[in-house]
Amino acid sequence: MNHLEMAAGRSGGATQIPYYQSIGGECALFQHAFEQRLPLLLKGPTGCGKTRFVQHMAARLDRPLYTVACHDDLTAADLTGRFLLRDGETQWVDGPLTRAVREGGICYLDEVVEARKDVTVVLHPLTDDRRLLPLERTGEQLQAPDDFMLVVSYNPGYQHILKALKPSTRQRFVALAFDFPPPEQERDIVARESGLDTPRATALVNLAARLRALKGQDLEEGVSTRLLIYCGSLIQAGVPVLEAARATLVEPLTDDADVQAGLLEALRATF
Ligand code: ADP
Repeated sequence: MNHLEMAAGRSGGATQIPYYQSIGGECALFQHAFEQRLPLLLKGPTGCGKTRFVQHMAARLDRPLYTVACHDDLTAADLTGRFLLRDGETQWVDGPLTRAVREGGICYLDEVVEARKDVTVVLHPLTDDRRLLPLERTGEQLQAPDDFMLVVSYNPGYQHILKALKPSTRQRFVALAFDFPPPEQERDIVARESGLDTPRATALVNLAARLRALKGQDLEEGVSTRLLIYCGSLIQAGVPVLEAARATLVEPLTDDADVQAGLLEALRATF
């Protein structure tokens, strides 16, 4: 594994299928998109299951998965590859996107809008019927095999005008909207992932509904399924309920003392 792979997080091979609680027809849609060689865009708030969904589907389809968490310094070369000095020689080292194309794997670009603009230039010929990855530096033009798939995600909640996905990019993808799971499914997810019993998982999910209702007025984002699982895990480990809830459902969400007071009130009313 080279350092680009490690940074990008390759997973796959004959591993267990990661647990994913299906919400609607998203698994079938993913499979159809894969079979039809169509790229997929997942929209939704942070911590609502997008990454787990892609991990689950990659394992089901038995394809290696390359996950890249995009950030504002991420360039096209971080995805395609670069020449590196090794043992006194310059050697070309594939980036995660190139590896996924060569191997017929799934490349998942998380929060793609964060990446530099030159990333879009690389993605365009890959996301239309050409399915080409041009590697300028090596002079190669890679034709993506049938089992290569590109999946990207973004969180519409974070968007501001400079960072929205351009129509010319987003209209190249089949898109799936994600949201926090409905209460019964979220309860099962929280219980299973944290080990918490069903009544307490139910209480956490009910509390989440109340906290999420505050979104927009006081909070930028509603509490995520991920944070509910953290809360459940701490409670399960013996942390007193209110302390666990404060550390996972209040502090990560806001620094504003008034908003925190509102959230704490909702906590006390629940526990
Ligand atoms: P995102 O990629 O949307 O930020 P993740 O996929 O990392 O979110 O989800 C956060 C955590 O929530 C996961 O690690 C998993 O434990 C849990 N989770 C959320 N939705 C589901 C689901 N539908 N099935 C199973 N686990 C889920």
